[in-house]
Amino acid sequence: MHTVRGEGVWLYDESGRRYLDAYNNVASIGHCHPRVVQAIAEQAARLNTHTRYLQEGILDYAESLLGTFPDALQQVMFTCTGSEANDLALRIARHYTGGTGVIITRFAYHGVTGDISSLSPSLGASIQLPAHARTVRAPDAYRLGAEQAGKLFAEDVRGAIADLRASGIKPAALLIDGIFASDGIFADPQGCIAEAVAIAHAEGLLYIADEVQCGFARTGAHMWGFQRHGVQPDLVSLGKPMGNGQPIAGVVVRPEVLEPFGRSMRYFNTFGGNPVSCAAGQAVLDVIHDEGLQQRSTQIGAYLLGELRKLSERHELIGDVRGAGMFLGVELVTDRKMKTPAAEQTRRVVNGMRERGVLISAAGPLENILKIRPLLTFQSEHADLLLQALDEVLLELA
Ligand code: PMP
Repeated sequence: MHTVRGEGVWLYDESGRRYLDAYNNVASIGHCHPRVVQAIAEQAARLNTHTRYLQEGILDYAESLLGTFPDALQQVMFTCTGSEANDLALRIARHYTGGTGVIITRFAYHGVTGDISSLSPSLGASIQLPAHARTVRAPDAYRLGAEQAGKLFAEDVRGAIADLRASGIKPAALLIDGIFASDGIFADPQGCIAEAVAIAHAEGLLYIADEVQCGFARTGAHMWGFQRHGVQPDLVSLGKPMGNGQPIAGVVVRPEVLEPFGRSMRYFNTFGGNPVSCAAGQAVLDVIHDEGLQQRSTQIGAYLLGELRKLSERHELIGDVRGAGMFLGVELVTDRKMKTPAAEQTRRVVNGMRERGVLISAAGPLENILKIRPLLTFQSEHADLLLQALDEVLLELA
């Protein structure tokens, strides 16, 4: 696809054809949202430079952002990308704990810096896990069972900690994406990561919540993905929808965790938290609030989930429908009993949807899970367009 323009929930290609964007977690509050565009333009006309000098917009934005977090998370450092945010979060966690060990999920994605790419097995088979990393199974309620998913996740984390110690490596952090986007989109049962987080804390590890995918109201009922699970992170990494396309990301952290790091070394990120990016970030928060997008994410997300489940009654290929808010996964299988991944069919569904003018994608190690991540501004008529296209494509495949 060659895209040339975006407006609201629509993307336009070079021929002027429009596509319903159900796969965008960057322009999450709508393409080219007028309030974001205005905020960027006004700030760009006033001042845009590095972050060496004080600038009120940065402080105002930091306070607005921190106002959306639980009280314990009181400080933020800005970066340009989610990868940098995870990289920084890990450095802070290692400095605080004096350890190096990191626990991630088997098919995690956390970014592209040297350190973080080595902790992103989903980048490809040539990623060599470093000696200080251990992987655990994501809480896959579909394949492991809803009661077992959280228990096994906790057991795996406990085992990984013991294994690191047995190798003479002090564990520093449990780093997890709150919706396990690359592992296959696992949102439920709510609270399924709580036991693992409790074990990590009891063992002296810090919990880094990677909210690059599931933050900013994406999962509906909460602003932050970790809140669905009733857990308290020590560090939270943010990115993607933070500036609705303007590069801005960051780490939100407990002050006592940051303090020793801040005291012992400098951190200067030339563009991280620059005035224009912060203006965009502030506009995004304002729009989420003023347009009730968290509520919309909950309502339309629940509607989509329900309707997708109805579709599964008519289409044998659908093995499981899951997700939270506007982050949905539809796992396709050729055999419901055996849960045989239907990778080829998934690719055809994604392409068939695009041919019908609806953009989605696929996730999971075998890419047999439809990844549906509509803009938070979807109305029910947009949800219906998506559902109708999916129904047609599945019928055609059958
Ligand atoms: N963490 C997660 C969960 C992500 O999905 C991504 C980006 N896909 C990142 C981190 C890295 O963010 P960025 O591409 O902005 O570096």
